[in-house]
Amino acid sequence: MVFQAVGKLLGYRKHKTIKKDSPGKKTSGENEKIYLEPRYTAARVVDADILMLVALPKGLNVEEWLASNASAFYNHVSLLYGSISEFCTISSCPSMKAWATQIQWTDEKGRKRKCSAPQYADYAASIIQKILTDEDLVPTKQCKDFPKTFQPAIQKTFRLLFHLLGHIYTCHFKTVVQLELHPHLNTLYLHFLLFCAEFHLLDSKELASSEDLTTALIQSGPSPKTSGAQSKNT
Ligand SMILES: [Zn+2]
Repeated sequence: MVFQAVGKLLGYRKHKTIKKDSPGKKTSGENEKIYLEPRYTAARVVDADILMLVALPKGLNVEEWLASNASAFYNHVSLLYGSISEFCTISSCPSMKAWATQIQWTDEKGRKRKCSAPQYADYAASIIQKILTDEDLVPTKQCKDFPKTFQPAIQKTFRLLFHLLGHIYTCHFKTVVQLELHPHLNTLYLHFLLFCAEFHLLDSKELASSEDLTTALIQSGPSPKTSGAQSKNT
């Protein structure tokens, strides 16, 4: 619900002119990866050195950097998912597909169950909010240390966001293009992926699932540059 409400801010006006996909119809080529076409992969909103944005600034605690970025990425993914959420329904997306994988929801007791994409998005939003607002897990007071449970919790946050980004690309990319949001999505995805790679937030199997897109975006865009982050940090 949070995603839907927030996303109206981005996509509301344009939705009126967009033809809805009929219920049950595949919302984008599930077998064709249109997001890999060069006319789309070159689209960005900024010509920034993303590696510089990703790198830990001098003097900052790494856990604080991870937590603040997790919060920012959550807000950005919320906006983008929200902009297409009216097209992501139980009938259009009865299962949670991200990249080539059908993802099941794993509850807090480790039980897996099938769910639709909008249900997955709702579950993910509530878990992420719970993690990021838990003062014991993500302390905001200087006197408190981050617990050992912080790292797995933050990895879970990034994994859930990665699945949501994957669902948007895999099942709703045509709508994203109609809304002219693909430059935002590409920029967000690349920033997100490079951040995850820098801080080992996704395992290699997850990274491999969208490697073709990551490669296409890096090759077709002006950034990331390979020199920025390290030279600034030394
Ligand atoms: Zn969907």
